[in-house]
Amino acid sequence: MSLFDCIVVGGGPAGLTAGLYLARGKQNTLLLEKHVFGGQIALTHLVENYPGFPDGISGIDLSDKFRLQAERFGLKIKQDGAISISKEEGLFKVKTQSADLFAKAVILTVGSNPRKLGVPGEAEFLNRGVSYCATCDGALFDGLDIAVVGGGDSAAQESLFLTRFAKKLYLIHRREQMRAQPTLRERVLANKKIEFLPNKVVTQVVGDNAMTGLILEDTKTGEKSHLPVEGLFVFIGLEPNTWFLKGFIELDERGYIVTNERLQTSVEGVFAAGDCRKGASGQVAIAVGEGCKAALEAQHYLQDLAQCGKS
Ligand code: NAP
Repeated sequence: MSLFDCIVVGGGPAGLTAGLYLARGKQNTLLLEKHVFGGQIALTHLVENYPGFPDGISGIDLSDKFRLQAERFGLKIKQDGAISISKEEGLFKVKTQSADLFAKAVILTVGSNPRKLGVPGEAEFLNRGVSYCATCDGALFDGLDIAVVGGGDSAAQESLFLTRFAKKLYLIHRREQMRAQPTLRERVLANKKIEFLPNKVVTQVVGDNAMTGLILEDTKTGEKSHLPVEGLFVFIGLEPNTWFLKGFIELDERGYIVTNERLQTSVEGVFAAGDCRKGASGQVAIAVGEGCKAALEAQHYLQDLAQCGKS
C-alpha cells in the first residue's frame, strides 16, 4: 500500500509551497499534478507582482523554481489527477486514474480552470481560433486581427501581451468600465493596437474551416453586429476544479471549498489553499502564503495524531 503522511492534490503555487514546507519538515509527502505545474500562472506570460523579481518573471519560470525548490527537500511528485477522495479506517484514500494512494492528511490545492462563454461556435472553433491561453497560442496570430473578451486583470494583462503579435486587438467587455487594476487598465487604454469595445457581449463565434468572426450584441441597445477577427481569447474568470470533491467535503454554491481561518475543510485532516478555496484572491503571493499555512496546520494535525497514538 502507498501510504504517505500527506498527499497534496494540485501543483500550482499553493500546492508546491505546501509540498516544500512538508517535505522540508520531514513529512513523507506526495504531490499530485495532472497537467502542468504552476496551474494558472503557467499560462501567464509575465508575473509582475510576485515579490523578489523586480523585472517580473514568466509564469513558467516561476513554477519551475517552485517545483525545483520543493523537490530539493524530497517532495515526491506524481503526474496524475485525483478522481475521488474518501476516508477508510482512519486513512484518506486518494483514487487517481492509475492508483489508490493513502495518507494521514490531505491538502487540496486544485486551483481553477478558465470559465467558458458558453455561446454557439466557442467549442467548435477551439484551437481553430478560440483560445484560453495567450502564452500558449498568441504567436499563432502574428499579424492578424483578434479579439479578447473580459474586463478583469487577466483580460487586461493578456491583451497587452497579445499586442506583440496581433495587428489589431478588440477588447470586448460587457460593461462600460473594466474592473482590472488601474495600472493595467491605463496601459490597455493607452495602447494604440487595442480598441476597447464596452457594453458588448459575444453571442456567437462564426467561421468555416477556421474562425472568421464574432457576432456581438450591444448590452444597451440590443443591436447586433459582425466583427471580422481570426482569433478569440476568452479571459472571463475562473471556475474551481473541485468536481471530484462533491459529497466528500463542503463546497459553496459555486463549487469553492469552504474552510475556516486555519484552512481546515469540513473533514478533519483535510485542508485547502489557493484559488480553489472560498474567498480566493487569485494572487500568487496569497496562494503561496496559504500553501505555507495549510502545510503548517497539516503538520500540527499529524503531530497530534502521533501523540494520540493514532498513527
Ligand atoms: P475576474 O477578475 O473574475 O474577471 C472576469 C471578467 O470577465 C470580469 O470583467 C467579468 O465581467 C467578465 N465576465 C465574467 N463572465 C462573463 C461572461 N459570461 N461574458 C462576458 N464577460 C464575463 O477574472 P480574471 O481576470 O481571470 O482574474 C481572476 C483572479 O486572478 C482575480 O482575482 C485577478 O485579480 C487575479 N489576477 C491577477 C493578476 C495580476 O495581479 N497581475 C493577473 C491576472 C489575474 P464583470 O466585470 O461584468 O463581472
